[in-house]
Amino acid sequence: TDITELLLSRIRDVADYPEPGVMFKDITPLLADPTAFAALTGALAEIAGRTGATKVVGLEARGFILGAPVALRAGLGFIPVRKVGKLPGATLSQAYDLEYGSAEIEVHAEDLSAGDRVLVVDDVLATGGTAEASLELIRRAGAEVAGLAVLMELGFLGGRARLEPALAGAPLKAL
Ligand code: 5GP
Repeated sequence: TDITELLLSRIRDVADYPEPGVMFKDITPLLADPTAFAALTGALAEIAGRTGATKVVGLEARGFILGAPVALRAGLGFIPVRKVGKLPGATLSQAYDLEYGSAEIEVHAEDLSAGDRVLVVDDVLATGGTAEASLELIRRAGAEVAGLAVLMELGFLGGRARLEPALAGAPLKAL
């Protein structure tokens, strides 16, 4: 479709970043184009509406850039899921495995509770490890997962299949 073409045309492939053999999808050209940025956040906000979300979670760091305008456009609150050690209040944290080593993300415990339906927003779904940990956090906070919405899914990495159990029927939308 038109929006897919527009968004794809504003994503830059950067070879060998952050390490040799990786083709990094750089979204900064898209952010710098107000027409594309508005189309993207508008489409994500529409997904928020369709899923009946009551809150938007953004994953550090590019999920903040997208999630905040999506939350505003959808009329919903925005909640940051951050790398460990960055949030000042009482947190829930979730560790997950990386190719080498592990990582940990956190959310303020008081930001999510029973009765919330949460849409998770991020730029790129790769292996699915980050998204999977965020869905776990949301459930542990007692909230419901409304869905996961991303700009781009790197299909060859198998993130969608990995996320199936954690999504438990909630939609995964990749623009
Ligand atoms: P995963 O946990 O799915 O392997 O990795 C997803 C996370 O890493 C996301 O938060 C995403 O921002 C980042 N990421 C991984 N690969 C890329 C990429 O090629 N481009 C961008 N922009 N982000 C990526």
